Amino acid sequence: MSHAEFEIIRRYFRDSGLNFNKPGIELGIGDDAALLNVPEDRLLCMSMDVLVAGVHFPYSADPAMIANRALAVNLSDLAAMGAEPFCFTLGLVIPENNSSWLDSFSGGLLHLAQHFSCPLVGGDITEGPLSIAIQVQGLSQIDATIRRTGASPGDGVYVTGCLGDGAIALASIGIRSHLGGLVELIDENLPDACKQYFAAAYYQPEPRIEFARQCASLVNAGIDISDGLFGDLGHIVESSDVGVNLQTHLFPYSDSAHCCTTAESRLKAALYGGDDYELCLTVSAEHSLEFESVAAESDIRITCIGEIVAEQGIRCFDGSGAAVQIDDHAYEHFL
Ligand code: ADP
Ligand code: MG
Repeated sequence: MSHAEFEIIRRYFRDSGLNFNKPGIELGIGDDAALLNVPEDRLLCMSMDVLVAGVHFPYSADPAMIANRALAVNLSDLAAMGAEPFCFTLGLVIPENNSSWLDSFSGGLLHLAQHFSCPLVGGDITEGPLSIAIQVQGLSQIDATIRRTGASPGDGVYVTGCLGDGAIALASIGIRSHLGGLVELIDENLPDACKQYFAAAYYQPEPRIEFARQCASLVNAGIDISDGLFGDLGHIVESSDVGVNLQTHLFPYSDSAHCCTTAESRLKAALYGGDDYELCLTVSAEHSLEFESVAAESDIRITCIGEIVAEQGIRCFDGSGAAVQIDDHAYEHFL
């Protein structure tokens, strides 16, 4: 390791507040590897996401915002499993040793890391085209993991928060999306309040960690919505060998989405757009009341948007009961 590399690790990662102590972290940054003490009655839950400049965020994006988003999308995967954040590691590829960029990037990780008690315990850094790989480690209760399997006919299909904001935000920030012109803004000049709302939705998605842990034992199946409801709910129904009937008129949208898009655009953003990082959870009728009261107590907006059925596939209906035509635009990176 070069002196410059050591200095970067020391300044921005080891001594920046990110490498804080926590029970179970026997050894963090500084040795050849970290040492973690996993409690005997827990499962270690791991997930990784790679973000590449020019693909997942613009080169010019605020480094603090990218950092926050990179950690948030990883934590969202832990939420989707019902796991508690434990710690994370960071693989960083940077084109140059730019101290103000690194300072801002490291600062952007700090808030979420502290908020979710998830210290940085190691990583790697190398020179090259800007990209960020984060791996989070979480702890799951053995008998309360949330998986994609387990959805049963009769389950209500719930989503947290609002749908479509991620894809509408991409259009508002000006990042070209796989949806091309499908998600159209009514007017390119968004009101300032909407602009701010969408920037926050994109760069600071809120991982639903606490809520997922609170309701994990009440949920039959779940996933986080990173690639659009159609594709992600598709994973649940496929893994669970069931189907789903959705009521599109029940889909929850933000005020800003209502303000800036047509109904048709919003629906496409919800079904096929990505980056919402809300949870989609299926809950049996037996547990639905308790599930809804957990959400009310935690002040989490949840909406029941449909029902799991035995017949395979995803069907959508509008308020009058008429079928809504859908086809699969879910994001496929390599298509
Ligand atoms: P090695 O040469 O053995 O791979 P490194 O020089 O890459 O070790 O890293 C030295 C220490 O710094 C290790 O503990 C490693 O986990 C940590 N580290 C390296 N890069 C990062 C990073 N981007 N963020 C956090 N820790 C890092
Ligand atoms: Mg080594």
